Amino acid sequence: MRFRVSQELRQPVGTEFTLELRHRSLFLDDDAALTDLRGNADLLRTDRGLLAMVSATAQIRSTCSRCLAPTKSPIEIDFKEEFIPLIDPVSGKHITPAEAEDGFVIDARLMLDLGESLRQYALISSPSKPLCQPDCAGLCSTCGTNLNGGLCSCPPQTGGRWQALAALNAKDHEGS
Ligand SMILES: [Zn+2]
Ligand SMILES: [Zn+2]
Repeated sequence: MRFRVSQELRQPVGTEFTLELRHRSLFLDDDAALTDLRGNADLLRTDRGLLAMVSATAQIRSTCSRCLAPTKSPIEIDFKEEFIPLIDPVSGKHITPAEAEDGFVIDARLMLDLGESLRQYALISSPSKPLCQPDCAGLCSTCGTNLNGGLCSCPPQTGGRWQALAALNAKDHEGS
């Protein structure tokens, strides 16, 4: 997700550019990856750097929070962030980190890397409890069988997990 922006940074403030975003796979965290990313980044030359307005769609690949099967969910990623170059594109002079603090930067080779910003915004818009299907039956708590494929041979649990939860809640109330 790296783009050379040395030319763009030499343009007057207010100049606009568009980058086409296409990426097959981007690491998100230990449990998820972003795939099939497509979209655009509209760049605007500002007095400090480049303002990127990103609009993209992608798939999040992760595991079902109930049965651990691989899942894929579509997400939209939209954000606006200013990227500040670490060196002056014309003089080559290093810009003090104070001007570039708490934000995204363009490295000293004037490469704009959208990877980290896409990763952060994708994590914000990704589902916190992904499901392989809305009514995923999950795993048997006794033997671990994936119940989407059929019932296991464990004896039926009295009440099931909703009653167990209700019992837990009742206990909490008794205690308080
Ligand atoms: Zn599932
Ligand atoms: Zn079982």
